[in-house]
Amino acid sequence: MKIVVLSGKGGTGKSCVASAIALELGHCILVDADVDCPNQFLLFKGKEKSRDTFSASKLAVIGNNAPVCRDYSKVCEFGAITLEGGKLRIIETRCEGCGACGIAFPELEIKLVPKNSGEIMVSETAGFPLVYGRLIPGEAGSGKVVFEIKRITQEIVSRRGIPDILIDAPAGIGCPVIAAVSGSDHAIGIVEPTPASIANLERALEVVRHFSIPYSIVMNKQGISEKYEKEIIQRFGGLLAARIPYDENVPRMLASGTPPSLGKGPAARELKKMAKKLIRLIRQKETQD
Ligand code: SF4
Repeated sequence: MKIVVLSGKGGTGKSCVASAIALELGHCILVDADVDCPNQFLLFKGKEKSRDTFSASKLAVIGNNAPVCRDYSKVCEFGAITLEGGKLRIIETRCEGCGACGIAFPELEIKLVPKNSGEIMVSETAGFPLVYGRLIPGEAGSGKVVFEIKRITQEIVSRRGIPDILIDAPAGIGCPVIAAVSGSDHAIGIVEPTPASIANLERALEVVRHFSIPYSIVMNKQGISEKYEKEIIQRFGGLLAARIPYDENVPRMLASGTPPSLGKGPAARELKKMAKKLIRLIRQKETQD
């Protein structure tokens, strides 16, 4: 069973909900696909099993750096070609690997080589393996990193016979979210009672509906706005599977690096109930299908 947790907007409580479900599932693999800002490794500290660099883009390298007799810099839209001490140099952080310089100036013998985009880590926590990635700031290709994370996850799942995959999707609705959502059996959308969160979840759900994935909704931080809570109930009706109250214990638990469902207080109680209920609902639905 593959479950994806998404929200469309950061700071909604997606990781908090995902950590509660992972703890309830137990025999699962947790995938933190938020490659721009992973945080599950802060909640589930474990022994690192592997750390691999990953390339999602290319970098131009000059093969023949003979003394320069013409202006090569203008061909690069990104300003990545400079002249230093009479020699050409490519600024790595600016090069997008488009290859235009190699086509325009074959005499430079430009080669496109893989560029280091980030890292993918696998760690063994007390309860289950955790797979997560980290993109180097400014690097493109977050969708490709998520696909690579899913490929590594699938290898571990097949090798160890793990029945359930839980994916904590990135915020937004872009390429990495599409990569995280595709192939899931069920999606859980997290929303808080604010207009931005409702609008962003609706956009993220367009991705879920595109793939015809069944979904449930969890309202987090209930109690901060009666008006928007009513709107969530009206919009999502029977799809609303749980409501987690706003509780100041949650940020305290997160700051101390502990999954909030393991704490005390109303949110911890509801997070545990929510996880049990959703797993039961999703399993029932799976057996019906
Ligand atoms: S590969 Fe493209 S981005 Fe990189 S230096 Fe050449 S023209 Fe510029």
